[in-house]
Amino acid sequence: MMKNLLFISPPAFHVMAKPTGAACNLNCAYCFFLKKASLYPDSTFHMSDEVHDAYITQLFEAHRTPRITVAWQGGEPTLMGLGFFKRSVEFQKQQAKPGTVIENTFQTNGILVDDEWCRFFHDNNFLVGLSLDGPRELHDIYRQDKGGQGTFERVMKTVRLLQKHKVEFNILCTVNSKNADYPLAVYRFFRDVARTPYIQFIPIVERDNETGYQEGNQVTDRSVRPKQYGRFLTEIFDEWVSRDVGQTFVLNFDGALAGWLDMAGTVCIFGPTCGLGMALEDNGDLYSCDHFVEPKHFLGNILTTPMAEIIGSDRQRKFGQDKWDTLPSVCRECDFLFACNGECPKNRFVETSDGEPGLNYLCEGYKFFFQHADHSMKIMAALLRQGGRAEDIMKLGNHKNIEGVNAKPAKLGRNDPCYCGSGQKLKNCHGKYIMNA
Ligand code: SF4
Ligand code: SF4
Repeated sequence: MMKNLLFISPPAFHVMAKPTGAACNLNCAYCFFLKKASLYPDSTFHMSDEVHDAYITQLFEAHRTPRITVAWQGGEPTLMGLGFFKRSVEFQKQQAKPGTVIENTFQTNGILVDDEWCRFFHDNNFLVGLSLDGPRELHDIYRQDKGGQGTFERVMKTVRLLQKHKVEFNILCTVNSKNADYPLAVYRFFRDVARTPYIQFIPIVERDNETGYQEGNQVTDRSVRPKQYGRFLTEIFDEWVSRDVGQTFVLNFDGALAGWLDMAGTVCIFGPTCGLGMALEDNGDLYSCDHFVEPKHFLGNILTTPMAEIIGSDRQRKFGQDKWDTLPSVCRECDFLFACNGECPKNRFVETSDGEPGLNYLCEGYKFFFQHADHSMKIMAALLRQGGRAEDIMKLGNHKNIEGVNAKPAKLGRNDPCYCGSGQKLKNCHGKYIMNA
């Protein structure tokens, strides 16, 4: 049966497993997971060995690539205890075909992480995502424990522990209406104080309703405003592009740059379609995406329907294809469609000025950012296309004065005219930076 299913399922996909379902030891004000507990009122929020084994077995059977990602997410996965993950790693090794590279990713608030967890993460090559919203006065506004106390100290202790044990980790920073006013304070804190080279910014766009589902078109006060988000990205981008490219990795910028390289979709929000990242609840229920854990997007349970069949189903394919098919004409005519693709469908609940539904709430901010970053993105894309490095842009001095940059230059030879439009040969102009690199 599995063999036939492989023909309809994609060769690789992503499943975010939530072994504790919506359960968490914190009470972050904007957390959309916590409301999801109401979907399972009698649940213990604890993944059984039966569900775990089905998840790993089916994930490994369905993949036709040498690399498999096992993704752990919350709620808060450390609440399962370390024993659960030790067993999982052993089980994964038993299930893997020879030559398979297994990568575990693990998203945590960091509160329960200690030396033992860190040793385990390190020894088993886990890539850890740690939630941190900036310096104390910004982080503690929303990221509080059940007693209403800020968690900054405890998270920073975990940063130092992860560093001590040489665990690979990145910072996930939610951008909300408060910290969005301090882009450089947030960015410099991560770079200079926390000293973390991998950063991802996640805009908080939280619908104001009781269900916690993607319904209605009002947002809470905690949500970042579109212009505010655009300014946030832009200010950080200017600092990053002038001194930190190649040293500090900001997933939002890398994901956007992919668009200028005709590779949009290295992060799902910027891809033309999606649907390859499902969410698995602790009881085996599978949903179209982590952001759409709601009855409308329930796909089936892996104890009764194989995962490969679910991801290859018409319903899930339609979910992914709708991202493109439901784009409003404003997006189809947008100069930055190639990089943005209307961003994530969860944020598309605004009407265009013509009354067309489905425009992205963050559109104004994204347009502002893409417009601002366009010139630098073109230069970095040109450098990469010619075999150089994106960070060579920092050797170009005030690259904003370089005019006539071609968005999609053909591969150039040393004696071809430089892409910057100076009229000089590449080897005598910007090419020398590439050749020196
Ligand atoms: S709905 Fe959004 S987050 Fe989910 S897969 Fe699609 S683009 Fe990604
Ligand atoms: S910037 Fe706005 S109009 Fe352009 S593709 Fe993105 S959401 Fe659509």
